Amino acid sequence: MGIRENLARVWEQVARAALKTGRDPGSVKLVAVTKNVSLEVMQEALAAGIKVFGENRVQELVAKQPRLPGDIEWHMIGHLQTNKVKYIIGKVSLIHSLDSLRLAREISRRARERGLVAEVLVQVNISGEETKYGVPPGEVKSFIEEVAGLEGVRVRGLMTIAPFVSDPEQVRPVFRELNRMAGWLKRELPGLPLDYLSMGMSNDFTVAVEEGANIIRVGSAIFGPRP
Ligand SMILES: *Cc1c(COP(=O)(O)O)cnc(C)c1O
Repeated sequence: MGIRENLARVWEQVARAALKTGRDPGSVKLVAVTKNVSLEVMQEALAAGIKVFGENRVQELVAKQPRLPGDIEWHMIGHLQTNKVKYIIGKVSLIHSLDSLRLAREISRRARERGLVAEVLVQVNISGEETKYGVPPGEVKSFIEEVAGLEGVRVRGLMTIAPFVSDPEQVRPVFRELNRMAGWLKRELPGLPLDYLSMGMSNDFTVAVEEGANIIRVGSAIFGPRP
């Protein structure tokens, strides 16, 4: 299967899931996850209509970015180490993986140095898996309140990674809970632009869209299985 065909299928599945719940399919942003994907294949994806790339490693992102057209939107989706923040500030439009205050302070510091505001999502460990990064659900509100007090960082919403399961229906409650939490936070913290819900990957994006995702991060369903 080629990228064009894969992409057409993903869009069709997104559209069906959105319409099923009365939402505009155009309100769902597709982030094409390009970790381990070559520049040649990324060019192909651009030609097929992809506009947003997501990388989970800083090194890979900064190596690829100057070699591709300048109008691409780049997202950092993977765990971000504090000492790598300086390499991506000003280069990505959204960081999906804010998971500690230490990281928030470093993003704030580096963004202020450059006169920028970094847009971030708070990664929430809804499922409580020990292997996953993310703020525990019970701490998200106070975490966002602290981050809101920092200059140079703007929290735009929440992100989660569901456990990998063979039947995506099993993780529907995870997505539902993130959506519920976002709604609650918007009421509790009015004035903060908590607009984005980044949830859903190749295996489970249709369920995530049905549960309110407006950003999905899809790799292998577009590019094929990773080596
Ligand atoms: C790799 C990755 C994805 C995409 O995974 P696929 O299953 O290939 O769609 C999404 N989000 C994050 C954080 C990732 O690291």
